[in-house]
Amino acid sequence: MKIAVVGTGYVGLVAGTCFADIGNHVTCVDIDERKIEKLLKGIPIIYEPGLEPLLVRNIKEKRIEFTTNIQEAIENCEVIFIAVGTPPGEDGSADLQYVLTVAKEIGSFMNSDKIVVNKSTVPVGTADLVAKELKMVLKSRNVEWEAEIISNPEFLKEGAAIDDFMSPDRIIIGGKSEHALKVMSKLYSPFLRTNNRIYMMDNKSAELTKYAANAMLATKISFMNELALLCDEVDADIDLVRVGIGSDSRIGHKFLFPGIGYGGSCFPKDVKALIHMGRQRELPMRILESVEDVNAGQKRLLFKKIQKHYSERNESIEGKRFAVWGLAFKPRTDDMREAPSIVMINMLLEAGASVVAYDPVAMDNCREIWGDKISFSPDSYTTLDNADALIVHTEWNDFRIPDFDQIRQRLKHQVVFDGRNLYNTKEMLQMGFDYYSIGRS
Ligand code: NAD
Repeated sequence: MKIAVVGTGYVGLVAGTCFADIGNHVTCVDIDERKIEKLLKGIPIIYEPGLEPLLVRNIKEKRIEFTTNIQEAIENCEVIFIAVGTPPGEDGSADLQYVLTVAKEIGSFMNSDKIVVNKSTVPVGTADLVAKELKMVLKSRNVEWEAEIISNPEFLKEGAAIDDFMSPDRIIIGGKSEHALKVMSKLYSPFLRTNNRIYMMDNKSAELTKYAANAMLATKISFMNELALLCDEVDADIDLVRVGIGSDSRIGHKFLFPGIGYGGSCFPKDVKALIHMGRQRELPMRILESVEDVNAGQKRLLFKKIQKHYSERNESIEGKRFAVWGLAFKPRTDDMREAPSIVMINMLLEAGASVVAYDPVAMDNCREIWGDKISFSPDSYTTLDNADALIVHTEWNDFRIPDFDQIRQRLKHQVVFDGRNLYNTKEMLQMGFDYYSIGRS
């Protein structure tokens, strides 16, 4: 099948590469010339495990191409995926300007009937808006090509995006046209050979399914984070509570880990967008408003623990030097969008502390955020030299079983603030650390 993917970011690049890998011919389009230049050389513009070899192989096999020329891409394909960003506007609504611009461009360059698939996360009713924009442009061109609009939200997780795309839990396809639904089913069937997990529905339900999934996951996180706060107060252990409730099959073990709040490009903006959708219809999303509120507090939690540690010793954070392990919003990605580390590090800097940080892949993106306001180390252990304390912020595998002797020797004081509950409290105390984690006081 000949496919165009418009928007070559985390979703578009992964989707395009995986569609190419199963034998389709894919043209990926982006307005960012620098990205396209790199991609043409086989350099992935994002860090995603497994992406690079797949990309290089498909470029070599001439199954994937990259261009800034959207006209050529649209003219030469049957199916067009829209995978551009839908960032939050000031009122929390999803900003649809990029999606609607692409819709207009598709209308301007369509030269035959096309299937237009919206893969971006978009509010309920966007499929109708896209159809309207397209029709207006086609009418102004005085042509009568048919654009069948499909809503096909993406559920991949950064850090496991290739695996998720290649073996999806489910595929959601919303649309009216039987022909388009059949084509979509054919396109996805190679990824679902063991059992058919394609769910067909109307466009609006498909659009809402994506928000509902992310909102549910964000709710689980905030729920556990709030319980962890209570554990801290009543001297209970959230880890024990977690396994205790997770063994109930109605609850399950996944996504119950407390931490320092959710971040990334999806949960924060999708929760906000759903709250906005409710408000527009005078239907406040009260649970989600609380989920967001709890999350904002959680991002400040580690700083509060740091503040308490020093105030109990009549010391100030000012002038202290902190080693930070992990900056990305989660492991196995370089994505810094809405990363909790941004909130915590900015609070430390405002309090007059200095920060030396290490992340296995996100440091280039961090330089764009902080410039020389913080310093970066080439490895995790060098951050510790002359630091007053270690803060663990992202649960990269690299940090799970560190050399505690080195940590003890290199830190000025044996203080560890662990935002991901990576270490055993008893063992840390036995080794002589002042150790703080989440909900395990
Ligand atoms: P991204 O910011 O990484 O990529 C978007 C790309 O679109 C950018 O490269 C940008 O230059 C390009 N673009 C913008 N306007 C364009 C135009 N007119 N023509 C061509 N290219 C254009 O975004 P992303 O993280 O890939 O997310 C895309 C969508 O998918 C969003 O709606 C997001 O909510 C959703 N989503 C993201 C994830 C994720 O993990 N990142 C997962 C599921 C769904």
